[in-house]
Parts: sequence; structure tokens; C-alpha cells
Amino acid sequence: MTKVTARRAAALVATGLVAPEREAEIARVAERFAVAITPDMAALIDPADSRDPIARQFVPDARELATAPEERADPIGDHAHSPVKGIVHRYPDRVLLKPHHVCPVYCRFCFRREDVGPGSESLSEAELAAALDYIRGDKAIWEVIVTGGDPFLMSPRRLGALIAALEAIPHVAVIRFHTRVPVVAPEGVSAALVRALQSDKAVYVVLHANHPRELTPAMAAAVKRLTRAGIPLLSQSVLLKGVNDDAATLEALLRGLVAMRVKPYYLHHGDLARGTAHLRTGLGAGRALMKRLRGRVSGLCQPSYVLDLPGGHGKVPVGPCYVESGAGSEDWLIEDPQGRRHAYPPRPHPAK
Ligand code: SF4
Repeated sequence: MTKVTARRAAALVATGLVAPEREAEIARVAERFAVAITPDMAALIDPADSRDPIARQFVPDARELATAPEERADPIGDHAHSPVKGIVHRYPDRVLLKPHHVCPVYCRFCFRREDVGPGSESLSEAELAAALDYIRGDKAIWEVIVTGGDPFLMSPRRLGALIAALEAIPHVAVIRFHTRVPVVAPEGVSAALVRALQSDKAVYVVLHANHPRELTPAMAAAVKRLTRAGIPLLSQSVLLKGVNDDAATLEALLRGLVAMRVKPYYLHHGDLARGTAHLRTGLGAGRALMKRLRGRVSGLCQPSYVLDLPGGHGKVPVGPCYVESGAGSEDWLIEDPQGRRHAYPPRPHPAK
């Protein structure tokens, strides 16, 4: 097994993860979208399993070259909300800050797949300064979500400097990092990185995991380094066909995360990124899955099932609804986890 991240078709074949006859197909996809699999993720793949859920996330597939009519280059409309390079400002109280455009792996379903990759530049010092000026200039910005690419690929020195700059902005109360590093390259959560995350302001880390097999002992150790340092952890997952679109797999993932002190935050419905139709489920299937989870796992394990509306209209919960209006304006019918309906408030007992 290779010890380095496999980025090219030939390297993937050399790892034994894909058959030599697929090299040309993978090379064609790699010309269009970035490819990378870390040794940690490669080690989880069973090359004999043509439906391996880890391979589906990272090994390119010729179907990525077909664009469905509803798919788009900027599926959640980030570009329309970018007043300054590296900033997405969609909601008044928070911004995305994207200082680094490279990832340790390239997920085949990524909604930013046209913006991330080795050819994409990270922000220059001047661009980062301009992005920080933008945050400084808007007192309504309460939370900064540092995303990417993967911000945990920045050196601890650069990361620490970024946190210090954000810390010095009085109206910024929360700094949130979105990262795949603790899962796909857990040794990247070094002591120096954990030290860099120490701040007087609230620093949250949101990791990205999609399948229970990703919760390896090395990943658990990386999570422990963060939680022991007092950093609250949340998770986000993407609902993916053939990866985690069944209740048992999701249940194992969510329980595994909570048991290591990671609160499941979002389950994203797959975005309409180009070439990802084969990995997307229907919204109805996602809602039905969430309903099955309601009866199976505690509230602590429940993520919010969300959709980022195409066109930049924002993120909304799209999970099942358990409430229906009844006869009067304050009469309701509530569905319990077993699917039985109950009037609320309950009808009064007949007088005895
Ligand atoms: S790590 Fe995140 S930003 Fe990078 S390819 Fe995967 S989903 Fe996209």
C-alpha cells in the first residue's frame, strides 16, 4: 500500500485499489476534477468489493463526466454572495472564510469540486488581509466559518495567525472550522495544530464523516486530542447513494460519532454539483430515512437533514414533519415515532 496520497490514475492503479483497465477512465475524470486519496482512506477500501462505500467517495468514476440537466458549477450559489475573494456572506450574522483551496482527499460528490484542487490558489497574504478587513468592517458578523478546501492543511503557524486576527475583532464571537483532516488524515491533527486552535473565543471544529468505517482508531485518537484540549466537536455528513443511504449504516455512524464526543450537526442532502447524480438520493428517500432514525437513536444522535437551495437562497431543514394542523387554529395532529397520530392538546376526558 502506498504511503503517499494517490492523486493520479496510475498511482491509483499502483495502490491496487482499481483495476488497470480502469486507468484510462480515471485519467479522463482526473483531467476535469481533482483526485486524491490519503493512505488512511486507501487502507479502508476493499478492492474486491465493487460497491465499496469508501471507494465510492474517493475513486473517480466515468459517470462524473456526464452532467445532469439540473446540475451546475456553483450548486449552492456561493459566487453570488462573495463580496470579496475568499468570503461568502449569505446571512447577516456569519460569513464563510475560505483561505485555502486544497484538500487532503477529493470527494467525488463535493459541491465545491470546481473551486478546489491543486490548481486552485489559496488566498495570498493581501487577499487574506482584504477578507479580514471585510469581516472587521461589518459589526453584524458574529461567527466566521473557516472552510475551504481544508483549513487544517494550513500550517499551525498560519492557522494560529488567522485565529489571532479573528480573535482581535471584537464583534466576532465564534470561529468555526470545517475539516475532513481528523477523518481522512488523522495524523494531521498534530500537537502544534491543537495548540494553534487554543483561543479565548469559542472555537468549534466540524468534521466531515460519511460512513462508520471512517471512524478508525487513528481518527478516534485525533478526535481525543481535540476534545481533551477542550474544543467542542460537531460533525457533518452527506447523504450518499450506496454509501450511507440506509438506516443501519447511518445509525452506526451517528452512534460512533456521539460515543467519541462528536455531536452530529448536519446530514446534507447531496448538492447538484456536476457529475454527481449517481451519488445522490431523492429527497423523499432522505426524509424516510430520517423518520426511521427518529425511532432508533436518541436526540443526541440526530443531525438536522438540510438542503442548500440552488441559487444561493440558503440552507433549510428538509426532514420529515410530525405536525399537521387540525380542526381549530390551535388543534394539531402529531405523529409519534411509530407513525401513530395523536390529537394535541388531547381531547378532554368525558366528565365522570
Ligand atoms: S474535503 Fe470537503 S471541500 Fe474537500 S473535496 Fe471533500 S467535500 Fe469538498
